[in-house]
Amino acid sequence: MIQCDGLVKIYKASNLEVFALQGLDLSVESGELMAIIGNSGSGKSTLLNMLGGLDRPTAGSLTVDGKDMLKMKESELVRYKRESVGFVWQNNARNLIPYLTALENVELPILLSGRRKRLRALELLEAVGLGHRARNKLHQLSGGEQQRVAIAIALANQPRLLLADEPTGSVDSRMAEQILDLFRDLNRQLNLTIVIVTHDPLLAKKVDRVVAIRDGKISSEMLRRKSYDEELKELEASPEQEES
Ligand code: ADP
Ligand code: MG
Repeated sequence: MIQCDGLVKIYKASNLEVFALQGLDLSVESGELMAIIGNSGSGKSTLLNMLGGLDRPTAGSLTVDGKDMLKMKESELVRYKRESVGFVWQNNARNLIPYLTALENVELPILLSGRRKRLRALELLEAVGLGHRARNKLHQLSGGEQQRVAIAIALANQPRLLLADEPTGSVDSRMAEQILDLFRDLNRQLNLTIVIVTHDPLLAKKVDRVVAIRDGKISSEMLRRKSYDEELKELEASPEQEES
């Protein structure tokens, strides 16, 4: 799904150059659920923005879902952002409309019309466990629920890739865990590739792979010994153990 080789991003601010990514190599399989960790300023958001086509790399190569991100035309990039990728940020509440209902918020970005739009929005709210709150105004929902609405919106146009930049940064730890569980469910149910940037130590237990970034490069990588699917299969294969 993602192939990054020697990726470089240099920001130019007046006479200053900031080397945010300094030759980063990363590959992500389709259907993977992975996390990126690293200190503040290490280049995590920069990487996510490159993957999502929000900004262009300075050098290196980057292919996402078969598309060469350095060669894409502006019009192709707009289409890619709208149709192939979903974003979740830390403070999504800013991008939601408080006086509309959860359902109306989710309907806004859906590229369908009428009844089909409504049904799709409801389906998305159900997918994030908020079907029962569809008719509530957004400001009546808790922070964690609002974050779920934002995740539903990110999925509105059935992206193949979901990018989340510190999605649990502004909710408490219990809520953070629920949101991570939701990411895992979506990953499994929709075979969605998900890349999450986080500071949250809980996360390492919930994803298949953790990659650490330091000074704009990958500094280490940790694979789970077993995937959650394998663990589930083992549990299902030994029901006697559970009963005893
Ligand atoms: P992280 O998300 O890991 O905290 P960032 O990717 O936001 O790190 O930033 C990496 C480096 O690039 C930092 O030194 C940051 O100050 C710099 N940077 C990020 N965005 C910009 C920008 N738009 N213009 C100039 N410098 C930037
Ligand atoms: Mg960041």
